[in-house]
Parts: sequence; C-alpha cells; structure tokens
Amino acid sequence: MVDAPSADRSAAVIGSGFGGLGAAIRLQSAGIQTVLYEARDLPGGRAYVYHDDGFTFDAGPTVITAPHTLTDLFELTDRRLEDYIRLIEVTPMYRLIWSDGDRFDYVRDEATMVEQIRARSPRDAEGYQRFFQYAKKVFDKGYTGLADRPFLRFSDMLAVSPSLMRLRADRSVYNTVAKYVKDDHLRQALSFHSLLVGGNPFQTSSIYTLIHFLEREWGVYFPEGGTHALVRTLVQLYEELGGELRLSTPVKGIDLITEGGRTRHRVSDGKGGQDTFDMVVSNADVHHTYSKLYASSPVAQRRTRKLEKSDWSMSLFVLYFGTDIAYDDVAHHTILFGPRYKGLLDDIFKGNDLPDDFSLYLHVPTVTDKSLAPEGCSAAYVLAPVPHLGRADVDWDAIAEAYGDRIIEALEVEMPDLSKHIVTRRHITPKTFESELAAFKGSAFSVAPKLTQSAYFRPSNKDSGIPGLYLVGAGTHPGAGLPGVLNSAKATVDLILSNGR
Ligand SMILES: Cc1cc2nc3c(=O)[nH]c(=O)nc-3n(C[C@H](O)[C@H](O)[C@H](O)COP(=O)(O)OP(=O)(O)OC[C@H]3O[C@@H](n4cnc5c(N)ncnc54)[C@H](O)[C@@H]3O)c2cc1C
Repeated sequence: MVDAPSADRSAAVIGSGFGGLGAAIRLQSAGIQTVLYEARDLPGGRAYVYHDDGFTFDAGPTVITAPHTLTDLFELTDRRLEDYIRLIEVTPMYRLIWSDGDRFDYVRDEATMVEQIRARSPRDAEGYQRFFQYAKKVFDKGYTGLADRPFLRFSDMLAVSPSLMRLRADRSVYNTVAKYVKDDHLRQALSFHSLLVGGNPFQTSSIYTLIHFLEREWGVYFPEGGTHALVRTLVQLYEELGGELRLSTPVKGIDLITEGGRTRHRVSDGKGGQDTFDMVVSNADVHHTYSKLYASSPVAQRRTRKLEKSDWSMSLFVLYFGTDIAYDDVAHHTILFGPRYKGLLDDIFKGNDLPDDFSLYLHVPTVTDKSLAPEGCSAAYVLAPVPHLGRADVDWDAIAEAYGDRIIEALEVEMPDLSKHIVTRRHITPKTFESELAAFKGSAFSVAPKLTQSAYFRPSNKDSGIPGLYLVGAGTHPGAGLPGVLNSAKATVDLILSNGR
C-alpha cells in the first residue's frame, strides 16, 4: 500500500517513551491526528519517575545531550524549548573513579582535558587529540545526516559503507581508543560511553566513539525539575498541538483490516476500547510489538523469530535512595569502575551468571537541583549493568535487597557513612524491565548496537511487510539513548510525511 498523501490521516503511537513522544509531536505538528497510548500511569517509558517520602527519583535517563533533538520538536511549530523548561549544563560531565583511588574529571573544555591527560600520561596527550579528531570524523560521517535518516534498502547501507569502512567501523570502540592512548584508565575513560546505549565497548562498532565528540561539542545537560519535568514538557507541547494521551491504557492487540481498499489498524486496548487508524507508530519494545501486538500476522511472526536470534543488550539493576544529609561534594554524574574492566564486561555480555563484582554509575541530581529532595537531603540513584534475563537466570526477587546493600557499601568511598543516612530506597531489576516495560529478556536498551544489527540491519523504521506499521525508539534505527530515540522519531515521521519513499 502507498499511504494516502492527505493531511487527514490518523495515527496511533504505542508508548510514550522519548521516541514515542518525539514521533507524536512530529505527527501532530504535521497535522496528522494522533492518539498516544501508554500502558503505565505516567508518560516517559524508561524516563518514569518515583516520588517517595518527599524525594523525586528520575527512573532512567539523566545525561541529556544533543539538545537540538529536543529544541527541534518545539521549532516545528515556531516555539522555543527555553520558554517551557531550563536545561542546566552539568560540569564535570562525569567524574571517573577507579578502585585504586585514581580519579579523572571528564570535562567539555579541551585544554582542561588535555592538561589532565598530560599530567597522568604525557605521551597520551597528543594521542588523545588525534582520537578527538577521529571521533569528529566519525561524527561527521555517522551522525550528521545518518542518525535521523532511515535505512530502508541495502543500497542505503552500501552508499555509506565506503566512508565508514575507511574509518574502520569494523573495529570495536575499545580497540580504536587503544590505538590512540596507552594508559589503561584513559582507555576505559574514553571507551565506556557505548555502555550508555547498551553496547559492550569491546564488541560495539567504533562508530560509537562519536558519543565522545557529541558530548564535547554540545555538552551534557540536566533539566530543571529532573528528566520527568522534561517528559511533562513534551506532553504539554503534544497536547497544545491537539494530541490525545491515554495513560494507563495498554494496547493488547492490533488487527489489520481492509477498508475502502486500504489497510487500516484496529487497536484494542486493555479497557475494552477499539479504534481504527491509518497507521501505527510503535514505541513499544520491538519484540513485544511483533510477538504480541501483531501476533496474528505471519510477517510479524517472521520478525519475531529473527529478533529471538538477535543479540540483546544488557540489563540494569538500579537502586534509588534518599539521604537525611546533603552529599554536596560529589559530582552530578560519577562512574565508579570496579577492579575488572574487560573481564567484567565479558561476564555481563557473554556470561551466564551474575558477576560478584560491579562497575557503577552514580547519579546525584541534587548537586544541580535541590528541589528534588527535602531541604538538607540528597536524592540519588546508582546503577550496575547486569546480564539480561536470557543470559543469567538470576532470582532477582531473592537477591535484590542484599545486592543493593553491597552496592551501598561500595559507594561509601564517595558518600561517607551512606548506609547510616539512607531514609528511603527502592530498586528495579531486569525483572522490572520485563514486567513494567514489556522489555524482551528484561533488556534495558533493546537490540544490541552491534555493526551487524545497525542501520539497514536493525529493525526498520517502516515495516516493509505490514502496510502502515512504523517503529520508533531504541529497537529501531539509530538505536537507544535519548539522541538515538529522538532521531528515530525524525527518521520515522519524515518517512511517513514523504509517503514512505
Ligand atoms: C536506568 C537507565 C538510565 C539511562 N540513562 C540514560 C542517559 O543518561 N542518557 C540517555 O540518553 N539514555 C539513557 N538511557 C537510555 C534511554 O533511557 C532509552 O534508550 C530511551 O529512553 C528509550 O526510549 P524509547 O523511546 O525507546 O521508549 P521507552 O522508554 O522504552 O518507552 C516505551 C514505552 O512503551 C510503553 N508500552 C510498551 N508496551 C505497550 C503497550 N502494549 N501499550 C501501551 N504502551 C506500551 C511502555 O510502558 C513505555 O512507556 C538510560 C536507560 C535506563 C534504563
């Protein structure tokens, strides 16, 4: 089917993650009447929020980068993001701490970066500058014009392959970094970024070194009021544009029907409601979309089988906690590397058990925004990457509390006497990703971002076999992370507006 070019088409967007919100805003801005279905009681998907005992805990994304992916959504209708919410620049972008006490403040300013590197490893200062130039080249080829453009045909892939191969996209992030710098900790400092989008630095294509350039180029931000305040702002924009959000309304199934010679999508929700749309943009987990929402379609069954053979990215254990004292000397974002780097990553991405050790990401937003905790207190979360449920059969209900206790103990190097000051805490595990977000294998970042699962090889922004079905979010091109899913919204909606090319 060729979608009708009229402006009166209707769309259902399934899921209000950042990708779904971005798509819904773009569709509504283009005059396509949109209903946004969300299974949970709040919008945001992985960017959910918990309010416990006066503390506000953003559940997921906290490192906001590539702000143009957000400002663009407002500019579509001549609005300005800064009239709705303030993005506060965070510095250092990350504080990195190793188990031997070594520290490194990862900042945007080039001179400060180079000076810190020279002080620890003089021979790496020049190597770092060459690495930065390499990351810029990758960014110019791999982000600009490609991140927000769909790869529908193999020829789309062939067109960009020569330049990506010249940049050795077949090498891993870590091996690329290792060519430029020799210091072991620096190699970790410059390669951990692919973990932010669910990729093992030892397996993920060097294309992902572009994250380093992207953060240095545009900075790292935190929305005033927290990430969920940003979610609410996007919902506000969507509703101002006339869009309809249906919370606590899980979609149970979608039937393809023919009306007036055209395929339409009959969406059945968990409340007994049924509505028919010209198209569906699914922001739900891609395996859930094909295996559950379109269960009766033979095309979907084929896609499901392929997805079950794909590599899925790791999961996370996340512990949210509030303290009765203010920890103001910590950085907003801290990475605490454990004693093992490659060995630990091998265990998480290739092993079959939960490793005993961990590396942690600590988020203390009250360093930037005191409104997220009662006066004189701190709100924080700490996360550990862990194997997904398809890999390690861990009884999370049984071990989560004790696992959290061990993590709290490890945090005491940075937050003295932490265990005595925690007044509220909660956690999520791979099981939560599976039950609350319908995430296949409880993966936190969907299909792993390997070269063989990227661009044309990733589930497509437009399904070629189910007319009117589009995907948006972490499971489609370009992939996970806020810049990724917001770019996927642009790629997908541009396709819809150009009638699918
Ligand atoms: C703990 C954590 C920290 C992270 N930190 C960062 C960070 O700092 N920076 C960054 O850029 N990225 C970060 N990420 C990654 C980023 O959050 C995700 O890649 C991104 O938010 C995923 O967005 P999405 O559009 O794919 O949708 P999701 O957030 O996955 O949302 C999908 C939505 O679909 C809904 N849904 C599913 N099935 C149905 C159904 N049948 N009916 C109706 N609704 C349905 C779900 O309820 C959910 O709301 C982090 C992720 C996690 C988990």
